[in-house]
Amino acid sequence: MKTKIITTRFLAIFCLLGIVFSAASWASAQDETPLPLSLRRNFGSSTGTGDIQGNFTLKARPAQAVEKVVFYLDGEVMGEVTAEPYDLRFVTDNYPVGVHSLTAKGFTAAGQELDSNVIRVNFLSAEAARKSMFTILGYLLGAIILATLISWAIPMILGRKAKAVPLGAPRNYGMLGGAICPRCFRPFARSLIGANLVVGRLERCPHCGKWSLVHSASPQALRAAELAEMEQTGEAVVAPTQSEEERLRKDLDDSRYQDT
Ligand SMILES: [Zn+2]
Repeated sequence: MKTKIITTRFLAIFCLLGIVFSAASWASAQDETPLPLSLRRNFGSSTGTGDIQGNFTLKARPAQAVEKVVFYLDGEVMGEVTAEPYDLRFVTDNYPVGVHSLTAKGFTAAGQELDSNVIRVNFLSAEAARKSMFTILGYLLGAIILATLISWAIPMILGRKAKAVPLGAPRNYGMLGGAICPRCFRPFARSLIGANLVVGRLERCPHCGKWSLVHSASPQALRAAELAEMEQTGEAVVAPTQSEEERLRKDLDDSRYQDT
């Protein structure tokens, strides 16, 4: 249940991130230029705000046939590609740290030049990228802890926390009296937060976790249900021998250690 909540939250966060990133790359690819230029991360880090570090590929997709594409960083040639796909891999660490403009130019056989859109990026040092990565991880960890706390605290506050009541144990049913779960037939104390409906009271069984309409049960009926729990497993009868079993197992473990 708890892990389910966390997984759902996680998925939500990742979906959101995915939408943000794909929207960003879509926007840059949609520029109406004769030579659309986009940037793809192979490995490394990218904050989505233009801070990048690692191994990237510049992708130029000319609108018409070209003989070659030349890639530039701040107007200086990074490299040229003479056949499709017009992709150029580069590593940010090979260039100075800081803000750069990435562009490309396509050259047609007729001597026409196709200009690309400009991609503005901030090259981070490997160390700075690691730090910002740790910051993001820190936030994620914080979010996970928060989600865990919330999923743990809410049932506590609402008094729904399932206490592991041993089978057959007599219990205090409190001021509202007890009820018997129609699903698992185990008795439980009626809580303050149950919803009163005309036909009964909507309550969550702390044993099986299912919601059902319950009526307050008589003390006799509750005691009978407690006894019925015992019969479910015969735990009350087994209880004294259990410690003996444990002792035997412990002896067995001890002897195992002595062998080796
Ligand atoms: Zn139940």
